[in-house]
Order: sequence, then structure tokens, then C-alpha cells
Amino acid sequence: MEDPAQSNPSTATFGLYVHLPFCRKKCAYCDFISYPGREGEITGYIQVLLTEWAAVRSELLAGKAFTVSSCYLGGGTPSLLAENQIHTLVDGLFPQGIPKNMEFTIEANPESLTASRLACYRDLGINRISLGVQSFNDLFLQRLGRIHTARQAETAIAMIQDGGWENHNIDLMYGLPEQTPSDFTTDLTKALGFHVPHLSVYNLTINPTTPFGKRSAEGKLLLPPEKKIVKLIDIIEEKTASAGLEHYEISNFSRPGFACEHNLTYWHLAPYIGLGLGAVSFFARDCGPWGAHWENPVAFHDYEAVSRSGKWPFRERTPLSCGAAFMEVLLTGLRLEEGVEIDRLHAKFGGEIVVKMRKAFAPLLLEGWLEQKNGRLKATRAGSRILDALILELVSGLR
Ligand code: SF4
Repeated sequence: MEDPAQSNPSTATFGLYVHLPFCRKKCAYCDFISYPGREGEITGYIQVLLTEWAAVRSELLAGKAFTVSSCYLGGGTPSLLAENQIHTLVDGLFPQGIPKNMEFTIEANPESLTASRLACYRDLGINRISLGVQSFNDLFLQRLGRIHTARQAETAIAMIQDGGWENHNIDLMYGLPEQTPSDFTTDLTKALGFHVPHLSVYNLTINPTTPFGKRSAEGKLLLPPEKKIVKLIDIIEEKTASAGLEHYEISNFSRPGFACEHNLTYWHLAPYIGLGLGAVSFFARDCGPWGAHWENPVAFHDYEAVSRSGKWPFRERTPLSCGAAFMEVLLTGLRLEEGVEIDRLHAKFGGEIVVKMRKAFAPLLLEGWLEQKNGRLKATRAGSRILDALILELVSGLR
């Protein structure tokens, strides 16, 4: 866990996230900042992104030296970018070349990934592919509003593996409308059959602003009941463990050495910079000892107008208090298998808040939802199933 207050801008180290909000079609469950049918704007958007990057380097980093510890091109659908577009973007982000040994991920969707694009990514120094598969069943893919087929997903994985990509991820979802444990087990077994080094498995969440949200409000979305979801989590844990994957974060599994470094930056509350529409940064600069979240505009017009003017376009800066930083470290730490190290919390935030925390979590330890092992506080297997409720209880105990 790195203290953002220690990130001296003259030697700043941070993860870099770049948001590419373009998709061919909007999926029925998606509330990410992504827009269909605007592919014609990608080239202009890349220019705006690079202008923003220049503004961040001069305003936030004050033109001083820095190290990018990991880079993640997310979306949206980054694999929609044509090869010349991705070239322009990566060359502009790293004019001096890609830092040695830096984890560099691009998100891809099966229908837009081609062997030629993969070769282009490799030439540019991208070394990790995260593929949005979600399901290997065409019926569920259609219900989700995905535009790829199971066959395309399998072909894309084969292309990645035949291309010698050592580090790659598959995203899968569970808890889909009318999905039975047997349907999901088939999906998971298929995914594990590819011996992937990293697997992300997310429970479908329903956002009220999406088509799924509206159908759910009308009672027209048949989601698996809570009991079945718990059964699915058991299946995930058993099958991933038998496949030799470590459960290092609540929704993430990897072979040893293949945990996603970029996402660990978020979960450790280490500094990161987000470029692009709606992107968020976390950094300590002129904002007190605990750092601040900086948020970019979510409307295209606002984001582009400020960026084009050569200014860093953030619309909101939220400095963290000691208590807020403590909660973030605690809450993200409990998502991790490693948990949080109590001595480090003490050293970083002081004794008073840790004493308060010990009181708040004592009943949860007794009830078996949390455990303390080797100086670390972690959710137990039972606790990890009700993590959101546990977190609420901890938060109210700390108030
Ligand atoms: S492809 Fe991803 S970002 Fe695009 S609409 Fe679907 S879920 Fe959202």
C-alpha cells in the first residue's frame, strides 16, 4: 500500500488509465460511459486525449520526471480502434517508448479483435489482452445485448493464445436472467478449459438507467434468486481453485504472478491518472496529505471543449479527509485475499482511528465474518459472500 501523500511530483509513479468510450452497440446492462455509432469521432477524440495528456503533464506533474507503472486502455471497446488510430494513441502517450516491464493492457471484444490488430498491439508494446466474453452461450449473449457469438469468443481466445500472448484475461458474467447453475457451470468450465492466466467473474448488477434496469422495475427480468447466486459463488471458488487459479480479489482469479497490476493500483489506493471522458484520477497535489479524486466531465462536448483549450479538463476535485482515506483503504483492502495490514493502517492513519476500527469489527470477528491472521484483517469465506453488508456495518460502526 503506497501512501499517495508520499508521491512527490518530482518522482511521481502512477498507473495510467485511458478511456475509449466507443462501442458498436450498447449492451442491455451497461452503464459505463460508452456510446454506439460514434466511431467517426475516434480520430478527433484521440487528438483531444493527447492534448489532455500534455495538460496533465504540465499542470499536475509540473513538467517533472515521472514513471508510469502500468497502463490500461479501457472502454467502451478499445479494439474498435483501427491500427493507425491505436498507433497514434500509443505513440502520443509514450513518445519516449514504453517503460520496460510495464504491464500494458488493452480491452478487446471478440467481434472486433483480429490477428492483424493483435500483431499491431504487440508491435506497440501492449502485453496484456482483456477479452470481454461474458458467456459462451449464444442465448445469454443475445439477452445481454452483446453483438458477438460464442464461436467468435472461442476464435478470439484461440487467436490470442496462438499468437503467444502469455498474459491475458477473460471476463465472464454470472447471475444472468434465467441462468441456471448448470448453464453457468458450462460457461465456467469452457473458460477454464482454455487455461487462461487470469479470469474475472462478475455478478450481473442491475442499474436502473439501463434497459435491464427498466425491465427489472417492471418485473420482467427473471434474475436468479440470492440462494442460487451463493451456489454459483461456491461453484466459481471450487472450479477456479481446482484449475490452479488464486482468488486474489473478490471477482478476480489468476495463476501465480498474473494478478492485474493495474487494478491492484486502485485496490491499494496508490496514485493513478485517468485520461478521457468521465475518467477519474487519484493523486496528491495541492490537496492535503490524503490525496484527492479528480473527475473528468462525462459529456463529450464539455470534455472536448476544455481539453482542446489545453487545460486539464477535470470538473471536480474531491480531497480526501483522513477518515475518508482510511475507509477507502479498508474497504478496497477487504476485497483482496491478502486483506489489510493492521500495523500499516496504524502507522499511516494513527492509533485513534484504528482503535475505533477494532471496536467496529470485533462483533464481526466473533460472528465469523472477518478474521485476523498474521496481522492482517480479512473477510472469511462466509464474509466475502456478504461483503457489501459487512462494509455497511463497518462504516456505521466507525461513524
Ligand atoms: S461492449 Fe462493454 S462498454 Fe460497450 S456497451 Fe457493451 S458492456 Fe458497455
